[in-house]
Amino acid sequence: MRRQRNVKIVATLGPASETYEMIRSLHEAGADVFRLNMSHGSHEEIREKHRIIRQVEKDLDSPIAILADLQGPKLRVGTFADGAEELEEGARFTLDLDETPGDGSRVCLPHPEIFAALEPGATLLVNDGKIRLRVEACDNSSATCVVVTGGTISNRKGVNVPDVVLPLAALSAKDRDDLEFVCTLGVDWLALSFVQRPEDVAEARDLAGGRAAILSKIEKPAAVDRFDDILKASDGIMVARGDLGVELPVSAVPPIQKRLVRACRAAAKPVIVATQMLESMIESPMPTRAEVSDVATAIYEGTDAIMLSAESAAGQYPVEAIDTMHHVATEVEGDPTYAQIVAGSRSAKGTTIADGIVAAARGIAEKTDIKVICCFTESGTTALLTARERPGVPIIAMTSKRGTARRLCLSWGCNCVMTEELVRFKMAVVNAARAARAGGFATESDQIVVTAGVPFNQPGTTNILRVAPCDERLIYRTDPE
Ligand code: PGA
Ligand code: MN
Repeated sequence: MRRQRNVKIVATLGPASETYEMIRSLHEAGADVFRLNMSHGSHEEIREKHRIIRQVEKDLDSPIAILADLQGPKLRVGTFADGAEELEEGARFTLDLDETPGDGSRVCLPHPEIFAALEPGATLLVNDGKIRLRVEACDNSSATCVVVTGGTISNRKGVNVPDVVLPLAALSAKDRDDLEFVCTLGVDWLALSFVQRPEDVAEARDLAGGRAAILSKIEKPAAVDRFDDILKASDGIMVARGDLGVELPVSAVPPIQKRLVRACRAAAKPVIVATQMLESMIESPMPTRAEVSDVATAIYEGTDAIMLSAESAAGQYPVEAIDTMHHVATEVEGDPTYAQIVAGSRSAKGTTIADGIVAAARGIAEKTDIKVICCFTESGTTALLTARERPGVPIIAMTSKRGTARRLCLSWGCNCVMTEELVRFKMAVVNAARAARAGGFATESDQIVVTAGVPFNQPGTTNILRVAPCDERLIYRTDPE
């Protein structure tokens, strides 16, 4: 489906968005990637959402990326006898290993390794930092805390321990089980939560064994410190502002967001800006002006994708939230200042032939009246390099690999079209011209730029740039076999 927009939209699915009709509406409204949150829902529920997404993809003949978000070593309290309790400032509250449902004085924290690492004076943050507890006394199976900031604590709320380095494995037993399940099901991206080291990414990549691309969520101070190495080890990045803003002061998040978005573009790897982008739309059909500005800022910064969490998963206005993002995006992308910012932040570091070809493709397209750049890509790399150029004309990524088409749904500006394996360049040009016309990117009287590589169908060979007519009769007449 042709979008009049380059930045991509990721929509998290949940109870508010689990029917065929809703998922189809979200895709039609603009969701390019669906995120399945492995922290919630059984494998059967995940399987059903996956089936529906693939059905929508088939019915609309439009590639869709599925991103499975592994829970990672996220700490959560157990359940409460009454579902929730109110904690008052100054009161005592105990965390322990007892699985009996909790009450106003205690609850289970089913992670023995935490009790071993905790020290008196450490801060525990519950429910995205809304509740603050200070450890008074602790042993190997419990911690008695004083409530510094009170609030409602309820079943399975998350717990962060920012000032203690936790000896946690990157992937829990549940994560390994989930990873195998979703890779067998067939997902395009695996998101890793609470990555701390590049080795964490390598471990997941080994387990995925090429079945899915690996996206690292940056939400720990340790991950910010080692970001360059984590980026090298990853295929994509998420600026996971929710937990990042709990583990670090919230004011530290915007500069980190800017730095990460730039680094990802320089590395030609997609980056998602995530969390609370349109938070008020969980309950309201209208976003706040500040939220609209936040979405716009992320796009001006050059992010590949923006994400909805509870807005699309559990909110009352999932379609309106997508619609809002889509309209903000088209407005920003139509602003001449956006083009200036994007051009001003282009890094010309690449020295490969592919870097030269994609830069030339952009140069020719922007200097003349070329309507679209069509790049043949097997691994997706040429499309990623073309997207990094942020050309002023649309990009069509032509590929014979369905997995590549789906993965590229996360990347800025990539319109993905399935094509046959390349045998003759003439046919490639004809197919590109057809895709350009069919997608409404160009008409018969227009010209297009086609990039490809010889030998065909081998990653990393981009070495051809052809300016071609969009009228295939002319191509047949002029081009050599
Ligand atoms: P989450 O990740 O929604 O899985 O917590 C995103 C974030 O922390 O911002
Ligand atoms: Mn998170």
